[in-house]
Amino acid sequence: MTHILNYIGGEYRNPIGDLWLSNFEPATGQIYSQVASSDRRDVDLAVVSAMNAFPEWSSMVADERSRILLRLADEVEKRIDDFALAETKDQGKPLWLSRNVEIPRAIRNLRFFATEILHSENSAYDTSPTQLNYTLRRPIGVVGCISPWNLPLYLFTWKIAPALSAGNCVVAKPSELTPMTAAMLGEMCSLAGLPAGVLNILQGLGPNVGQAIVEHPEIKAVSFTGGTKTGETLARTAAPMFKKISLELGGKNPTVIFADCDYDKALTETVRSAFQNQGEICLCGSRILVQAELYARFKQDFVEKARALTVGDPLDPSSHQGALVNQAHMEKILSYIDLAKDEGGKILCGGERVTVEGRCKDGWFVAPTVIEGLPQNCRTNQEEIFGPVVTIAPFETATEAIELANATDYGLAANIWTSDLSQAHRVAHDLNFGIVWVNCWLERDLRTPFGGVKSSGVGREGGTEALRFFTEAKNISLQL
Ligand code: NDP
Repeated sequence: MTHILNYIGGEYRNPIGDLWLSNFEPATGQIYSQVASSDRRDVDLAVVSAMNAFPEWSSMVADERSRILLRLADEVEKRIDDFALAETKDQGKPLWLSRNVEIPRAIRNLRFFATEILHSENSAYDTSPTQLNYTLRRPIGVVGCISPWNLPLYLFTWKIAPALSAGNCVVAKPSELTPMTAAMLGEMCSLAGLPAGVLNILQGLGPNVGQAIVEHPEIKAVSFTGGTKTGETLARTAAPMFKKISLELGGKNPTVIFADCDYDKALTETVRSAFQNQGEICLCGSRILVQAELYARFKQDFVEKARALTVGDPLDPSSHQGALVNQAHMEKILSYIDLAKDEGGKILCGGERVTVEGRCKDGWFVAPTVIEGLPQNCRTNQEEIFGPVVTIAPFETATEAIELANATDYGLAANIWTSDLSQAHRVAHDLNFGIVWVNCWLERDLRTPFGGVKSSGVGREGGTEALRFFTEAKNISLQL
């Protein structure tokens, strides 16, 4: 059986405590590997190795760092099929999604930040003819990056790429539910010539190894993507230590569909935004609001399309939806469907576990589920389900749509469908979310600020925002 090890100081290592966790293939429900269950001692080792690597890495000219990170992207690209297959086996998502979207995006993350540092600028202020102020942005030192299981390598690289590009050394932890592709990245680092200790990848449980990363006094900044509750725990630990933290947390995103929308596009894209990656994307639209005159038609067509989605073996190219990441998550989703019924919701389609014949007969699959008849203030509409479950409800006016859409503690992303661009702008302006997509969904320009408001997080990732997070500004005031 494969053992998934830590990558510390440029080498694969067993966890010091020699403890292991079973790693499951969600599509079959079977254990297929053992993953290192690291602890504080492994974190200490990784931090020492990162600290030793920091002087050389941080003083390397940007051009040289860039070249090494571009080679890392090339090494991943050479093995794109292996990475895609590993991601699918580990996470349960369809292979076409790993191969065509997520691993390519991981490669793009590395290339984007590797080249961004070639174009970044510092500021100078000519205070007076004899006084010059200028600002340098310096890497922080050793930083922690902690990522979740839903988009494993995509989100892992989204953090480590700007951290490394900016000249930091990194101690990073993927979710223990999806450790494989991050572990594979270690070998690519060695092949690309990344100096030992610049990137250290630790495997194991959040409350053990994740918490130890956050608590380590030599780790000066932590970039975290995950659930809101975990983000809260993390902030409680890091804030009194005056660490920089970036928190990308959960969402309960509205999709607002006006009667004047481009109907076919809005319908097709809303199905995608509801159910892509089994609904396990923080940006999925889980509360669909449709203008009253369009409601009956849209609901009928939406439910028909949701029913037509094939839930099946992620390796089968015809599967639209794969397996949920683990049994506990599947059970959580099914319990939310029960809750929706208790709250008076009507299940329009789905609502149950799906059994897939053959090798996936014990896998964790749930049918795309659409629920009607729930107010926005019920738990089903307030809590993040993070699965293939959406609610649908009508609204009359733009004012009402804004009120319903904003009726959540979360504020990650919103989606608007309308042909009236003035209306789109007005509504987007009043929606209290960090990202608003108009007539599209998940269109990402990596230069734009990415992140949420309220319980969806603190800080922004992407482009210069990420490089700012991973550097400290130092102002030098020079009298001439
Ligand atoms: P979790 O918060 O459970 O875990 C995220 C990461 O944090 C994992 O690596 C986890 O390890 C680790 N972790 C857990 N406890 C601690 C701790 N005390 N200290 C440090 N690290 C810890 O989230 P999920 O993995 O369940 O991911 C799903 C969540 O992520 C959803 O809420 C989703 O909305 C959110 N998300 C947000 C995104 C955004 O950009 N805003 C993007 C994608 C997802 P382990 O897995 O071992 O517990």
